[in-house]
Amino acid sequence: MENYHSLVKRQKAFFQSNQTKDLSFRMAALQSLRTSIQTNESELMAALKSDLNKSEFDAYSTEIGVVLEEIRFTLSRLRSWVKPKKVRTPLTHTGSKGFIYPEPYGIAFIISPWNYPFQLAAAPLIGAIAAGNCAIIKPSELTPNTSEIFAKLIKEIFPEDYIAVVEGGIDTSEALLQEDMDYIFFTGSVPVGKIIMEAASRNLTPLTLELGGKSPCIIHEDAKIKLAAKRIAWGKFMNAGQTCIAPDYLYLHGRIKDVFLRHLKEAIKELYGVRPLENPNFTRIVSEKHFQRLCSFLSNGDIYSGGKTKRDKLLIEPTVLTDITWDDPVMEEEIFGPILPVLVYTELPEVIEGIRNHPNPLSLYLFSEDKRVQKEILESVSFGGGCMNDTVYHFASPYLPFGGVGASGMGAYHGKGSFDTFSHQKSVLKQTTSFDIPFRYPNIKNGLQKI
Ligand code: NAD
Repeated sequence: MENYHSLVKRQKAFFQSNQTKDLSFRMAALQSLRTSIQTNESELMAALKSDLNKSEFDAYSTEIGVVLEEIRFTLSRLRSWVKPKKVRTPLTHTGSKGFIYPEPYGIAFIISPWNYPFQLAAAPLIGAIAAGNCAIIKPSELTPNTSEIFAKLIKEIFPEDYIAVVEGGIDTSEALLQEDMDYIFFTGSVPVGKIIMEAASRNLTPLTLELGGKSPCIIHEDAKIKLAAKRIAWGKFMNAGQTCIAPDYLYLHGRIKDVFLRHLKEAIKELYGVRPLENPNFTRIVSEKHFQRLCSFLSNGDIYSGGKTKRDKLLIEPTVLTDITWDDPVMEEEIFGPILPVLVYTELPEVIEGIRNHPNPLSLYLFSEDKRVQKEILESVSFGGGCMNDTVYHFASPYLPFGGVGASGMGAYHGKGSFDTFSHQKSVLKQTTSFDIPFRYPNIKNGLQKI
């Protein structure tokens, strides 16, 4: 196992030189990152095409564009975020002032997955830089072309002592976890999240876990059916369903079942074509192993639409499965592919019970015009975040911190949330020396003392 001791030691020394804490240093770093992404845009797109067959539209709208927007948002607000915040003091602290200083942790270790291989490596890095940290990023080995371009891009603009990308697989990740990092930011699966948390506990390293799970999408009987179908087809099948916040399964009200499914089929056709496997822009499944795993679900229930596959190209059609129950294998784990099982319900309590009986989802989507139904779901079910009458879109708002709860993760990022995640809140009381209030001392009469 390779030893990253020297890299970590050099980054610690760089951090301790205090350069990264300077606001203009951080702003300049973010500006360089932005320029470099813009300069390398076509190379990044080509890498995403070869790793996942992502179209230019998808590569820009779900990866490059998202990262550039996050940089723009951060640059426009960083000056105010870095300022110490003055807070109130209670009567017992008369004469003193309270401040909260956001302070960088030191070295942020970012481990990222393959499904949005550029965005999920770069977006946390923006937070780490903005907060004044050094960073080591371990991107996914399953998307080697994107990881390579990312490593090249970072190497061109930052010294390794400040920001380093270390390419490699599980061994590399494990070797880096042996080092004394100051913060760990992990995006990936639940089982690996547990391993990361255990490793973090060795040095009591604080961490964020951005994990996954089965995100439900409820379509109530009063939903605007056609619009719901289109927004669901978009959120589920983009990136061939390999999105942590994609609707994993539908809870569909029985009364609108047939009409909704017809609209869903139409929406899929409209967005991905009549023969999606022939569509040169349809994202492929990342690996043979995942392809096999997903194909095994195609025998669950009945195929309502889709179902065709192309093994040599690792492609699976957007597929809707009906006649599904919680006992089917497709309902046992996060699907993470273009397969959408449909559960049918008649009363909302069934839905609430079904979701509550499973780990807290990363996202939840509800399509209903009824505010009472929305309130009931919001108050009854715990989930990371989500949308009313849409799917996935909450992810793109920098004003909404993004993260899971329970088994879907801990901590959150995006916008100010990223800056806060990578900052320790250092609370400081600045006391007066003009007088002393003796209440706290034993054996001294109450009253003001002149110093
Ligand atoms: P993964 O957990 O297999 O791998 C993620 C990263 O961890 C990779 O860089 C990998 O090299 C590393 N890793 C794998 N095994 C390891 C080990 N034993 N020790 C140390 N490091 C290890 O996840 P994945 O397959 O790349 O991504 C898919 C998962 O990620 C899905 O569960 C999805 O829901 C989740 N995800 C979550 C979010 C989010 O923002 N919450 C975003 C995207 C993906």
